[in-house]
Amino acid sequence: MSRHFDLIAIGGGSGGMAVVRRAAEYGMKCAVIEAARLGGTCVNVGCVPKKVMWYAAQMSHALHDAPDYGFDAALTTVDWQQLKAGRDAYVARLNEIYARNLANSAVTMVVGRAAFASKNSVIVNGETISADHIVIACGGRPALPAISGVEHGITSDGFFELTSRPRRVAIVGSGYIAVELAAVLSALGSDVSLLLRRQHLLARFDVMLREALMEQMQDDGIHIATGINLSSVARGEDGVLTLHTHEGHTMEGYDTLIWAIGRESAVDGLNLSAAGLSLNAAGFITVDPFQNSAVDGIYAIGDVTGQAALTPVAIAAGRRLADRLSGAKPDAKLDEKYIPSVVFTHPPVGTVGMTEDEAREQFGDDVKVYQSRFVPMYYALTTGKQHSAMKLVTVGADEKVVGCHIIGDGADEMLQGFAVAIKMGATRADFSNTIAIHPTSAEELVTMR
Ligand SMILES: Cc1cc2nc3c(=O)[nH]c(=O)nc-3n(C[C@H](O)[C@H](O)[C@H](O)COP(=O)(O)OP(=O)(O)OC[C@H]3O[C@@H](n4cnc5c(N)ncnc54)[C@H](O)[C@@H]3O)c2cc1C
Repeated sequence: MSRHFDLIAIGGGSGGMAVVRRAAEYGMKCAVIEAARLGGTCVNVGCVPKKVMWYAAQMSHALHDAPDYGFDAALTTVDWQQLKAGRDAYVARLNEIYARNLANSAVTMVVGRAAFASKNSVIVNGETISADHIVIACGGRPALPAISGVEHGITSDGFFELTSRPRRVAIVGSGYIAVELAAVLSALGSDVSLLLRRQHLLARFDVMLREALMEQMQDDGIHIATGINLSSVARGEDGVLTLHTHEGHTMEGYDTLIWAIGRESAVDGLNLSAAGLSLNAAGFITVDPFQNSAVDGIYAIGDVTGQAALTPVAIAAGRRLADRLSGAKPDAKLDEKYIPSVVFTHPPVGTVGMTEDEAREQFGDDVKVYQSRFVPMYYALTTGKQHSAMKLVTVGADEKVVGCHIIGDGADEMLQGFAVAIKMGATRADFSNTIAIHPTSAEELVTMR
């Protein structure tokens, strides 16, 4: 049996779903091939279940603060199994919605793992499926270190399978997944150690955000150890984990270890060579600004490309590609400038555009920075305080805003609108000519001097 389509996507995650649904809207005959659960990383083991856990952690913080506001609230412990059951049920509902959306879009769903047979065909479950356009949207997977005892640790995927709250957990990594999991687990009552190879959290973020987050996490009781280079992991007969470092240190007493050291492309078994493709030195599929791979008729979108690994980026790349391949918008392409992103810690971090260091490196003395640090009004009554910090990075005589960095309650919701203004080319004067909304934290961004 063999079928032919105008366009197929390998992977039914954020990017794959976006490209086939948009292409089908233009009347193209499309199929999506998915080996696991529809929705991919974001829906099943990424943004969605992570944000549910973040809400749970927010609730824990609020319960701690409640007595200071006069409530007779006692925080005992979270029922992890109830939380997990609710979260899993929500994800299952989303899986169904995704399947319905595909059916409504008249996209053919193929369940199975695809491998290239040639440059315009793949094999799935023994069937050859060919297409004029093949979009690789296989996403990524957690990277693991090559050390003895690596199997004693879990990854972010395993975090979502935990059936009880870890008592004492070590998280290895310094990126956004590491800090998000650390913040959630700590808020829900685990004793958390965050082990960094170097000195900083969130290495590519503005220094103000890195420092403020590190300070806050330490205030919250998270142990942050820097310069840790693990050499091996051992599990004792009692199940307890001991971590050894190349520097000769030993850390013991953990019941859970989470690897969050980065992500790599998930192209196992895809047989790229049959299509004439290979991975670049970083382990991703190289694409041009139009998502074209090195082979005509094959494209790649989302995490498999090494472009910003964010769901809205994969979706935008998929939609633009469909706009272009359908002929509706022949020049459509992903605009990678000013991609906003949020780290869901407590408090959250929001960032868009250049860091201060990046701007100074490119524009030197033309850079002017506006910065503010304050305790939001919410904490006026609470014994525990969290600071907020904000920075606007501007360039030139007209003080065009090229970067906006926020850590603090509400940063996650605050940033989107400011990202629009910055992408439109707003200047510092545009910010300060906008009337503030009072009393909010966001008003600082238009009143900073
Ligand atoms: C813990 C965590 C938290 C995150 N939080 C956020 C967040 O808050 N905000 C945000 O924007 N992003 C977040 N992300 C990133 C986001 O999930 C990814 O950027 C996004 O899912 C990438 O989409 P994609 O389409 O490239 O790949 P994916 O969504 O990973 O989809 C790829 C799909 O391809 C399938 N597949 C792979 N190989 C084959 C094959 N050979 N045949 C058939 N199917 C195959 C896989 O099963 C998978 O379903 C998070 C990621 C993680 C891990």
